[in-house]
Amino acid sequence: GQVIDTAFLRRWFIAAASVIEREADRLTELDSPIGDADHGANMRRGFIAARTAVEKEPPDTPGGVLVLVGRQLISTVGGASGPLYGTLLRKAGKALGDARQVAPEQLAQALREGVDGVAQLGGAAQGDKTMLDALAPAVEALTFALDKGAGLAEALSAAAIAADEGALATVPMQARKGRASYLGERSIGHQDPGAASSALLVGALAGAARE
Ligand code: ADP
Ligand code: MG
Ligand code: MG
Repeated sequence: GQVIDTAFLRRWFIAAASVIEREADRLTELDSPIGDADHGANMRRGFIAARTAVEKEPPDTPGGVLVLVGRQLISTVGGASGPLYGTLLRKAGKALGDARQVAPEQLAQALREGVDGVAQLGGAAQGDKTMLDALAPAVEALTFALDKGAGLAEALSAAAIAADEGALATVPMQARKGRASYLGERSIGHQDPGAASSALLVGALAGAARE
């Protein structure tokens, strides 16, 4: 089958940094009505730092790339999302260990462990109007597609679609975690910024498989 190597992971985060830069203003706008209007700036700062780190000291394993990016996000993003995204990627990276190449199923399992780490750290479940509402369906769709025999690019496209749908599905939800939860029912009717950024990250991952 297909293998995922270090270059693939680097492509993901270089693409992620680009899309986050392009969409930073939109992410901050989403964080205005139900947050403190910093999500785009937080993510841009973090992903620029992550891209610089990956380019300066390129790790030689896929897990190493994930752990390095996760560490950078924890130290530079700030806010609630920094430690959560950092945990996602560090957990996923640790799950891959020091293998030089991994199978798509291993990446899917590693991302699942990362998403479980996010749920544990943030205490959120699906439906609470957070990044988990994009991330969890993405991992489900990825696993389902691979089980059905889809190739990596096809399975990741399915994951990206699920993440987009998951992010849009946060609009009618009432927030139960994070700053938006302070608004109670007034959080209804707005897309969650973290779910939106998660959809961008999964989209960048799918893009890395098409290159
Ligand atoms: P802050 O709210 O501290 O300013 P950001 O604006 O960078 O941080 O990120 C906000 C996003 O973080 C939210 O849109 C939501 O998706 C995510 N988030 C906040 N709290 C939690 C949590 N407990 N569990 C999961 N995700 C969360
Ligand atoms: Mg914010
Ligand atoms: Mg903030």
